[in-house]
Amino acid sequence: MFTGILFFAAACCRGVTHVAAVSAFAFLFISFPLSAQYKYGLEPTGYRAYVESLKNHPEKELVDLEKYIPGLVLDIRYATTNNFTGERIYDRAKAYARKPVAEALRQIQAELKKDGLGIKIFDAYRPYKATVKFYEVYRDTTYVASPYSGSRHNRGCALDLTLIELKSAVELKMPTGYDSFTKQAWPSAPVADPLARKNRQRLIQAMEKYGFRVNSSEWWHFDFKGWRDFEVLDIDFEELDRQ
Ligand SMILES: [Zn+2]
Repeated sequence: MFTGILFFAAACCRGVTHVAAVSAFAFLFISFPLSAQYKYGLEPTGYRAYVESLKNHPEKELVDLEKYIPGLVLDIRYATTNNFTGERIYDRAKAYARKPVAEALRQIQAELKKDGLGIKIFDAYRPYKATVKFYEVYRDTTYVASPYSGSRHNRGCALDLTLIELKSAVELKMPTGYDSFTKQAWPSAPVADPLARKNRQRLIQAMEKYGFRVNSSEWWHFDFKGWRDFEVLDIDFEELDRQ
Protein backbone atom coordinates (compact mmCIF):
# COMPACT_ATOMS: atom_id res chain seq x y z
CA MET A 1 0.00 0.00 0.00
CA PHE A 2 2.70 2.41 1.07
CA THR A 3 4.76 1.67 -2.04
CA GLY A 4 1.70 2.27 -4.16
CA ILE A 5 1.05 5.63 -2.54
CA LEU A 6 4.68 6.68 -2.97
CA PHE A 7 4.59 5.73 -6.62
CA PHE A 8 1.41 7.70 -7.15
CA ALA A 9 2.69 10.72 -5.22
CA ALA A 10 5.99 10.67 -7.10
CA ALA A 11 4.18 10.43 -10.43
CA CYS A 12 2.06 13.49 -9.57
CA CYS A 13 4.88 15.57 -8.10
CA ARG A 14 7.20 15.13 -11.04
CA GLY A 15 4.58 16.41 -13.47
CA VAL A 16 4.51 13.28 -15.61
CA THR A 17 1.86 13.02 -18.28
CA HIS A 18 -1.76 12.57 -17.41
CA VAL A 19 -1.71 9.01 -18.78
CA ALA A 20 1.17 8.06 -16.54
CA ALA A 21 -0.56 9.53 -13.50
CA VAL A 22 -3.77 7.68 -14.29
CA SER A 23 -1.79 4.46 -14.75
CA ALA A 24 -0.14 5.02 -11.40
CA PHE A 25 -3.52 5.60 -9.81
CA ALA A 26 -4.90 2.40 -11.38
CA PHE A 27 -1.82 0.54 -10.18
CA LEU A 28 -2.53 1.67 -6.63
CA PHE A 29 -6.07 0.34 -6.62
CA ILE A 30 -5.51 -2.78 -8.69
CA SER A 31 -2.53 -3.82 -6.57
CA PHE A 32 -4.06 -2.89 -3.25
CA PRO A 33 -7.86 -2.95 -3.27
CA LEU A 34 -8.57 -0.47 -0.51
CA SER A 35 -10.33 -2.01 2.51
CA ALA A 36 -11.54 -4.96 0.42
CA GLN A 37 -12.04 -6.97 3.60
CA TYR A 38 -14.26 -4.24 5.02
CA LYS A 39 -17.03 -4.54 2.46
CA TYR A 40 -19.56 -5.54 5.14
CA GLY A 41 -19.89 -2.02 6.53
CA LEU A 42 -17.82 -2.58 9.65
CA GLU A 43 -14.51 -0.75 10.06
CA PRO A 44 -12.55 -2.56 12.74
CA THR A 45 -9.88 -0.90 14.88
CA GLY A 46 -6.35 -1.25 13.55
CA TYR A 47 -3.06 -1.46 15.41
CA ARG A 48 -2.39 2.28 15.84
CA ALA A 49 -5.86 3.09 17.18
CA TYR A 50 -5.62 0.06 19.45
CA VAL A 51 -2.29 1.25 20.93
CA GLU A 52 -3.79 4.72 21.38
CA SER A 53 -6.81 3.25 23.22
CA LEU A 54 -4.48 1.64 25.79
CA LYS A 55 -3.44 5.06 27.14
CA ASN A 56 -6.85 5.62 28.74
CA HIS A 57 -7.96 1.99 28.88
CA PRO A 58 -5.09 -0.28 29.90
CA GLU A 59 -7.63 -3.08 30.41
CA LYS A 60 -7.98 -3.24 26.64
CA GLU A 61 -4.52 -4.72 26.25
CA LEU A 62 -4.38 -7.98 24.34
CA VAL A 63 -2.41 -10.33 26.56
CA ASP A 64 -0.36 -13.28 25.29
CA LEU A 65 -2.15 -16.09 27.11
CA GLU A 66 0.70 -18.56 26.80
CA LYS A 67 2.97 -16.17 28.75
CA TYR A 68 0.28 -15.03 31.16
CA ILE A 69 -1.02 -18.44 32.24
CA PRO A 70 1.59 -21.03 33.20
CA GLY A 71 0.86 -24.51 31.88
CA LEU A 72 -1.75 -23.40 29.33
CA VAL A 73 -1.78 -25.71 26.29
CA LEU A 74 -2.35 -24.29 22.81
CA ASP A 75 -3.71 -26.12 19.79
CA ILE A 76 -4.47 -23.19 17.50
CA ARG A 77 -6.27 -24.97 14.70
CA TYR A 78 -6.47 -21.97 12.38
CA ALA A 79 -2.67 -21.87 12.29
CA THR A 80 -2.85 -25.36 10.71
CA THR A 81 -4.90 -26.91 7.90
CA ASN A 82 -6.79 -28.96 10.52
CA ASN A 83 -9.87 -26.72 10.59
CA PHE A 84 -13.16 -26.46 8.72
CA THR A 85 -11.70 -24.26 5.98
CA GLY A 86 -8.92 -26.78 5.23
CA GLU A 87 -6.59 -23.78 4.96
CA ARG A 88 -4.01 -22.20 7.21
CA ILE A 89 -5.65 -18.94 8.26
CA TYR A 90 -3.14 -17.60 10.84
CA ASP A 91 0.55 -17.23 10.10
CA ARG A 92 1.42 -18.20 13.67
CA ALA A 93 -0.07 -20.18 16.54
CA LYS A 94 -0.89 -17.49 19.08
CA ALA A 95 -3.59 -16.97 21.70
CA TYR A 96 -4.29 -13.40 22.79
CA ALA A 97 -7.20 -12.05 24.87
CA ARG A 98 -8.05 -8.76 26.57
CA LYS A 99 -6.62 -8.38 30.04
CA PRO A 100 -9.77 -9.09 32.12
CA VAL A 101 -10.43 -12.19 29.99
CA ALA A 102 -6.86 -13.39 30.54
CA GLU A 103 -7.13 -12.75 34.28
CA ALA A 104 -10.38 -14.75 34.56
CA LEU A 105 -8.85 -17.60 32.59
CA ARG A 106 -5.82 -17.60 34.86
CA GLN A 107 -8.09 -18.08 37.86
CA ILE A 108 -10.00 -20.86 36.12
CA GLN A 109 -6.79 -22.68 35.25
CA ALA A 110 -5.61 -22.36 38.88
CA GLU A 111 -8.88 -23.80 40.15
CA LEU A 112 -8.90 -26.69 37.68
CA LYS A 113 -5.32 -27.51 38.62
CA LYS A 114 -6.49 -28.62 42.07
CA ASP A 115 -8.42 -31.41 40.31
CA GLY A 116 -5.50 -32.33 38.03
CA LEU A 117 -7.14 -30.61 35.07
CA GLY A 118 -5.97 -27.96 32.66
CA ILE A 119 -7.10 -25.97 29.63
CA LYS A 120 -6.34 -26.38 25.97
CA ILE A 121 -7.05 -23.33 23.77
CA PHE A 122 -8.23 -23.84 20.19
CA ASP A 123 -8.72 -20.16 19.43
CA ALA A 124 -8.79 -16.83 21.25
CA TYR A 125 -8.48 -13.31 19.74
CA ARG A 126 -9.12 -13.55 16.02
CA PRO A 127 -8.33 -10.74 13.55
CA TYR A 128 -11.47 -9.47 11.78
CA LYS A 129 -10.17 -10.48 8.37
CA ALA A 130 -10.29 -14.14 9.49
CA THR A 131 -13.97 -13.76 10.39
CA VAL A 132 -14.64 -12.47 6.88
CA LYS A 133 -12.82 -15.48 5.45
CA PHE A 134 -14.83 -17.96 7.60
CA TYR A 135 -18.11 -16.37 6.54
CA GLU A 136 -17.19 -16.49 2.87
CA VAL A 137 -16.30 -20.18 3.21
CA TYR A 138 -19.28 -21.30 5.31
CA ARG A 139 -22.04 -18.62 5.29
CA ASP A 140 -24.14 -20.26 8.04
CA THR A 141 -24.18 -17.72 10.88
CA THR A 142 -25.37 -20.36 13.35
CA TYR A 143 -21.76 -21.54 13.38
CA VAL A 144 -19.67 -18.68 11.99
CA ALA A 145 -19.96 -15.02 12.98
CA SER A 146 -21.51 -12.50 10.65
CA PRO A 147 -18.96 -10.06 9.22
CA TYR A 148 -21.63 -7.35 9.50
CA SER A 149 -21.33 -7.41 13.29
CA GLY A 150 -18.00 -9.19 13.78
CA SER A 151 -17.24 -11.97 16.22
CA ARG A 152 -16.63 -11.68 19.94
CA HIS A 153 -13.33 -13.35 19.08
CA ASN A 154 -12.54 -10.15 17.12
CA ARG A 155 -13.03 -8.20 20.35
CA GLY A 156 -10.57 -10.39 22.23
CA CYS A 157 -13.43 -11.51 24.47
CA ALA A 158 -14.18 -15.06 23.29
CA LEU A 159 -12.28 -18.29 23.82
CA ASP A 160 -12.59 -21.70 22.20
CA LEU A 161 -11.25 -24.31 24.57
CA THR A 162 -11.56 -27.69 26.20
CA LEU A 163 -10.36 -29.50 29.32
CA ILE A 164 -7.27 -31.67 29.49
CA GLU A 165 -5.78 -33.98 32.05
CA LEU A 166 -2.89 -31.91 33.36
CA LYS A 167 -0.33 -34.73 33.59
CA SER A 168 -0.82 -36.23 30.14
CA ALA A 169 -2.25 -33.18 28.32
CA VAL A 170 -4.86 -35.57 26.89
CA GLU A 171 -8.21 -33.96 26.11
CA LEU A 172 -11.18 -35.01 28.23
CA LYS A 173 -13.94 -36.72 26.33
CA MET A 174 -16.58 -34.26 25.07
CA PRO A 175 -19.81 -34.76 23.08
CA THR A 176 -18.12 -33.79 19.77
CA GLY A 177 -14.79 -32.62 18.44
CA TYR A 178 -13.94 -28.92 18.00
CA ASP A 179 -15.77 -27.06 15.22
CA SER A 180 -18.32 -29.81 14.77
CA PHE A 181 -21.14 -27.93 13.08
CA THR A 182 -23.83 -30.31 14.34
CA LYS A 183 -26.62 -30.24 16.90
CA GLN A 184 -24.63 -32.65 19.07
CA ALA A 185 -22.26 -29.74 19.68
CA TRP A 186 -25.00 -27.66 21.28
CA PRO A 187 -24.48 -27.39 25.05
CA SER A 188 -28.16 -28.21 25.51
CA ALA A 189 -28.00 -31.36 23.36
CA PRO A 190 -28.65 -34.67 25.14
CA VAL A 191 -25.53 -36.82 25.46
CA ALA A 192 -25.75 -40.61 25.76
CA ASP A 193 -22.22 -40.99 27.13
CA PRO A 194 -22.31 -40.01 30.83
CA LEU A 195 -18.57 -39.21 30.86
CA ALA A 196 -18.85 -36.74 27.96
CA ARG A 197 -21.90 -35.20 29.63
CA LYS A 198 -20.05 -34.82 32.93
CA ASN A 199 -16.97 -33.29 31.28
CA ARG A 200 -19.05 -30.79 29.30
CA GLN A 201 -20.77 -29.78 32.52
CA ARG A 202 -17.45 -29.43 34.35
CA LEU A 203 -16.11 -27.13 31.63
CA ILE A 204 -19.22 -24.96 31.53
CA GLN A 205 -19.37 -24.66 35.33
CA ALA A 206 -15.70 -23.70 35.58
CA MET A 207 -16.06 -21.00 32.93
CA GLU A 208 -19.40 -19.58 34.10
CA LYS A 209 -18.11 -19.17 37.65
CA TYR A 210 -15.63 -16.57 36.34
CA GLY A 211 -17.91 -14.59 34.07
CA PHE A 212 -18.04 -16.51 30.82
CA ARG A 213 -21.13 -17.72 29.01
CA VAL A 214 -21.19 -20.74 26.75
CA ASN A 215 -22.36 -20.29 23.15
CA SER A 216 -25.73 -21.91 22.46
CA SER A 217 -24.48 -23.97 19.50
CA GLU A 218 -20.84 -24.70 20.47
CA TRP A 219 -19.87 -26.31 23.80
CA TRP A 220 -16.25 -25.11 23.33
CA HIS A 221 -17.00 -21.40 22.74
CA PHE A 222 -17.24 -18.96 25.67
CA ASP A 223 -17.95 -15.22 25.64
CA PHE A 224 -16.68 -13.00 28.41
CA LYS A 225 -19.20 -10.71 30.10
CA GLY A 226 -18.73 -7.08 29.15
CA TRP A 227 -17.58 -7.93 25.61
CA ARG A 228 -19.55 -4.93 24.34
CA ASP A 229 -16.97 -2.60 25.93
CA PHE A 230 -14.26 -3.89 23.59
CA GLU A 231 -13.99 -2.95 19.93
CA VAL A 232 -13.75 -5.28 16.96
CA LEU A 233 -10.08 -5.39 16.00
CA ASP A 234 -8.18 -6.25 12.87
CA ILE A 235 -4.61 -6.59 14.10
CA ASP A 236 -2.29 -9.36 12.98
CA PHE A 237 -0.47 -11.57 15.45
CA GLU A 238 2.79 -10.35 13.97
CA GLU A 239 2.00 -6.80 15.11
CA LEU A 240 1.02 -7.98 18.57
CA ASP A 241 4.16 -10.09 18.94
CA ARG A 242 6.25 -6.96 18.25
CA GLN A 243 4.72 -5.14 21.26
ZN1 LIG B 1 -15.45 -19.51 19.07
